[in-house]
Amino acid sequence: MQNCVSSRHVSIDVDTIDSTPLHSFLERNRGSMWALAWRCVTAAEPNYERLAHIPNSGLGPACALCSAERGSTWHLMWQCPGTQHFRDKHRLELQDLENQVPANASSAFLQNAWAPAPVPPRSLDWTFDTVEVWIQGLLAEFRTRPPSRSQGRIFIATDGSAQNPAAPDIRVAAFSVAWPSGNEDCTWSQPLGRIETTVNAAEVVAVLVAASAAERAGIADAHFLTDHHAVVSGLAGATVSVGKSSLWRSLRAVLRRQSFEVSWVPAHGRSGHLKVPDFWRCLNKLADEAATTCSLEASAASSSWSTALTRRRSLVAKILHFKMDVFDDLYQKFLTFFGGH
Ligand SMILES: [Zn+2]
Repeated sequence: MQNCVSSRHVSIDVDTIDSTPLHSFLERNRGSMWALAWRCVTAAEPNYERLAHIPNSGLGPACALCSAERGSTWHLMWQCPGTQHFRDKHRLELQDLENQVPANASSAFLQNAWAPAPVPPRSLDWTFDTVEVWIQGLLAEFRTRPPSRSQGRIFIATDGSAQNPAAPDIRVAAFSVAWPSGNEDCTWSQPLGRIETTVNAAEVVAVLVAASAAERAGIADAHFLTDHHAVVSGLAGATVSVGKSSLWRSLRAVLRRQSFEVSWVPAHGRSGHLKVPDFWRCLNKLADEAATTCSLEASAASSSWSTALTRRRSLVAKILHFKMDVFDDLYQKFLTFFGGH
């Protein structure tokens, strides 16, 4: 670890860098600008001080755009009058930014958009102890509001839902179970916490919790409905994600012990042409709504954290686009020495 704020050449003073916005910036700049984008992200952009090291370049370390003695990255980005139009274009001014950026890493952030990796809010551990707590919770529900029979069987729907599904570190998932009890429709749902946040994990754990609770409640012939193809195909022997192999093992074991069935039901009333009993669709809709509400609530509970993270990441993208503009000319100059142009 090195911290060299005085020269602002090297500002590696964060233990772990939030690499997600850096990767997406590089991804957006695939193509002719990629090499410059890479240099900007890795603190290897050509500034006057660096170009002066090239033998026989005839270049000195002073800024060629103004009279400053040192054409450093910091100078070019935040001080040079010759790059003011880029700061105006991107609406970036040092004095506005300094209180918005992480104090322990401000020069690394302002030069390279390196911010400390996010530390998610504390939440439950993803362990079998947690799964056991869920099973006990649902078992208590089944005892209070026993699932009732429809057409000779007990049908129980399960579902999983995630908010921000495409953003792994702010994604929040929940699962739910829905069943009829007398004249009442019952649902029960739980957030998954922050270790496993995929819809897939939520869907698998939903069936495991529902089947285990049904087994302990002495329900001999439950029929589970899921709208997640992977659950049905996984149970039929298709390859499943290795990370959740112990979940799958437990699920297969409980299904083997009991004469339970698991069927797929189309989500959100889709596939209307398929012959699926209406009450299957209704039960799935109930489970879907409960899982969605639960994941929305869990997401709202961590919203200040994820909002701050999202805001900071858009600032990262902004600083990097600005940096690309600032160093474009110098990069072209650099290529004339090394790129054979
Ligand atoms: Zn200058």
